[in-house]
Amino acid sequence: MRNSVGLEIRPKGLSEFFGLGRMDRDEIIKKAEELGLDPSIALKMRKDYLNYAITTMRMRLGYLVEDKWEYQKAGDTIAKAFCVSAIEEYDAQIKIYQWELTKLNPDYNKARRADLGDLITEAKRVSIAYVLPNPVIRGRTTCPFHDDKRYSMAVSKEKGIATCFHCNETWDVIGLVMRLQGIDFAQAVRYLTRG
Ligand SMILES: [Zn+2]
Repeated sequence: MRNSVGLEIRPKGLSEFFGLGRMDRDEIIKKAEELGLDPSIALKMRKDYLNYAITTMRMRLGYLVEDKWEYQKAGDTIAKAFCVSAIEEYDAQIKIYQWELTKLNPDYNKARRADLGDLITEAKRVSIAYVLPNPVIRGRTTCPFHDDKRYSMAVSKEKGIATCFHCNETWDVIGLVMRLQGIDFAQAVRYLTRG
């Protein structure tokens, strides 16, 4: 049976910048200008990327649903449960990408004003699964900080922390964003609370 879980779902050839960033329309335009790109092309790349990701994930979801039924027929309850949680994760991931698409609308309303204390509280409310590049399946994901094929990272959505048993490190949502994006604490808080 095909392994429909944990496969690479990001297309190659597009920069991380357009792939994983959480930039809204204005930020993409600004960044494109900095890089000397035509902003309309940058926006189109971002939109195409998100649509591609959604289509690919929907396809994987279709496989997972088929697998789930096959496992059910075969009476393999563990494999079936694995499919069920993978389906939930792909569903959640698709919603995230759909939300990212709405941020490209010209009338998308940008960040509200708030003081830093409120912003930190708000930042910590963001699900840790949201910022991880790969889906979290039954509390595990591949660690983005080393070449990981073994789902070395344990994720507690309740506690909002991720621990990699290979890197031997634990991050909260703000720490993860700092490391993933190479930015400082205040920038990470702003990153998590914009929109
Ligand atoms: Zn690691």
